[in-house]
Amino acid sequence: MTNTAKPAVTVLGLGAMGTALSEVLLAGGHPVTVWNRTAAKADALVEKGAARAASPAEAIAASRLVIVCLLDYPSVREVLDSTADGLRGRALVNLTNGTPGQAREFAHWAACQGADYLDGGIMAVPPMIGTPAAFVLYSGSREVFDSHRGALDSFGDSIYLGAAAGLAALHDIALLSGMYGMIMGTIHAFALTGSEGIPAAQFAPLLTRWLSGMSQWPAGAAAQIEAQDYASGVVSNLAMQAAGYGNLIRAAEEQGISAELLAPLEPLLRRRVADGHGHEDLIGMMELLKVENA
Ligand code: NDP
Repeated sequence: MTNTAKPAVTVLGLGAMGTALSEVLLAGGHPVTVWNRTAAKADALVEKGAARAASPAEAIAASRLVIVCLLDYPSVREVLDSTADGLRGRALVNLTNGTPGQAREFAHWAACQGADYLDGGIMAVPPMIGTPAAFVLYSGSREVFDSHRGALDSFGDSIYLGAAAGLAALHDIALLSGMYGMIMGTIHAFALTGSEGIPAAQFAPLLTRWLSGMSQWPAGAAAQIEAQDYASGVVSNLAMQAAGYGNLIRAAEEQGISAELLAPLEPLLRRRVADGHGHEDLIGMMELLKVENA
């Protein structure tokens, strides 16, 4: 007879995200042991079948696969430092947001405790966990990724980026950087239209339509970066865009809206044009961000 029992999983951290991760693991039939600093946050999961651990050490002892999803790296170290002995031989998957440097440093710490370490970056909000829209980036131990694929796949599409522990965080932070650029522009756009009393619900479909139309921009920019050619096939040259961008700043001033979310790009646009790149495409601005050119 084939043993179809799902492997046990421990989850440390039951904020909005740790709770969502635990819920899909439970729904998928995994025995789940949970621990959270504020114990009451485990109540609903316990009702659904999770085991409540009284301490991080007890939780870690319960499963070979230990998933950590806490606020930040300092909280991860605060929770795990006292239980370091118990990590030997464990597959430690850390889905806490952090920088590539923090991931590398923590991978070293985990290796010193004898744990196999996989770092992860969740590209989803809690209600998306377990749906096709979610994806999770991983880097570090390929062995952990392959051995625990079943559990990891319950969260969403699992994407392994390589053995270097910092890779998942690097990609995660890069994707969030793109997202916050869009969010900054969206906040400004609603403030600007709101200054004329235009209902947000009326403006939102136009903004969505425009941003969707622009969503292919990264693919074209990538081709130009790969070719190291910002000057071929340009349809919206930088000098034109620099002049137009000035209108964004002036319109904000006219409407009594602060331009502080938009302001940082303007001097960079002007500098790139002054440096003789006005005929090129916008992605060439990337050169200004390289420290040696700043
Ligand atoms: P929450 O604020 O909902 O939960 C934070 C968790 O961290 C709680 O379990 C909290 O415990 C715990 N915690 C904080 N400080 C400490 C500490 N010093 N010692 C022990 N436990 C501590 O955050 P989320 O669950 O939403 O986020 C968790 C991680 O997931 C973050 O790194 C976040 O960036 C990442 N993430 C979140 C997304 C989201 O949309 N929510 C999206 C993608 C990634 P307590 O309950 O006791 O306060």
